[in-house]
Amino acid sequence: MPDQRAFRIHNDDAGYHAGIETIPVPEPADGEVLVRVAYSGINYKDALAGTGKGKVVKTFPLTGGIDAAGIVEQSRHQGYKPGDAVIATGWGMAFDHDGGYAEYLCVPADWLVPIPQGLDPRTAMIHGTAGFTAALAVHRLLTNGQTPDMGPILVTGASGGVGSIAVAILSRLGFEVAAVSGKPEMHQWLTDLGAARILGRDDLPGGDRPLEKAVWGGAIDNVGGAMLARITRTVVNYGSIASIGLAGGTELSTTVLPFILRGVSLLGVHSVDIPYQQRVELWQHLASDWAPADLDLILDSCITLDALPELFERMLSGRTHGRVLVQPGV
Ligand code: NDP
Repeated sequence: MPDQRAFRIHNDDAGYHAGIETIPVPEPADGEVLVRVAYSGINYKDALAGTGKGKVVKTFPLTGGIDAAGIVEQSRHQGYKPGDAVIATGWGMAFDHDGGYAEYLCVPADWLVPIPQGLDPRTAMIHGTAGFTAALAVHRLLTNGQTPDMGPILVTGASGGVGSIAVAILSRLGFEVAAVSGKPEMHQWLTDLGAARILGRDDLPGGDRPLEKAVWGGAIDNVGGAMLARITRTVVNYGSIASIGLAGGTELSTTVLPFILRGVSLLGVHSVDIPYQQRVELWQHLASDWAPADLDLILDSCITLDALPELFERMLSGRTHGRVLVQPGV
């Protein structure tokens, strides 16, 4: 196997640094699969890992990229054969194992899912971890009894990867979606994705009393902090809030009153180590009955490995929207 280009992250005597290097293509061990990466993506966690602005990488050095999709090159697991189209999200990628920012990805077969009919490596990675996480959040809401007649679902961080796909899925499922976004220039785009109304980040109704007027059926929150606290105070009886992200902060200052007087549920969403069967089911939903009406609308741009540092800065300063794809082999 020839060498390959990879975006490597180091934390050593020279400090935290990352960039393109040439490294050997790994040989798959028993139970592992070598995938030729067609596309990876940029998630918020990738930007934290690639810049060192968040402590999300455990083992150094390693190849960044928490997700990838491509074609099996070599397999040492009976479940996969060369030519199969696969997707990998989460698990140890870019945590304690090399991730998707390389021409090849070598992972335990258990981390992979076959790309379902209706998707290919490119469209699977337009979803990527973001779409998978949005689907998981929707699943959490639905299985906790959320229905459209309970009222509008608030989606925060709506112009981001997770947020925009959540808007599209919820709208497709018949929910009225209220999108919270700090980007006025993306309002028409959010409407096109399925948002029925759009609020600025400072426009959420309600004050700081433990319970305010209940206006939301439920919520998918990518922001955390004060925004999530405000949402807990304004959700209707037995509504659910899926907590996904921390783009606005990790603190949560609220009271128990929404939970014990309105039966509100705060549902955690952790997309990293979802069991295989559930991953397959969620990807099947994304490929069929939950598919956004126009997936390409969610694509911001497609870049090569060389452009990663610039995109990380853009994402962390809130200047991306939707999904950014990465083509390591180009
Ligand atoms: P993006 O950067 O694509 O989206 C984040 C969005 O949040 C931005 O587009 C922006 O939307 C909004 N935002 C950014 N900064 C702030 C701020 N200071 N205050 C309020 N809103 C802000 O990231 P992703 O979609 O990839 O991830 C979203 C969040 O979900 C991240 O926190 C990420 O870590 C988390 N996540 C968690 C997962 C899990 O398994 N729990 C999996 C995947 C992601 P706008 O401008 O429209 O307001």
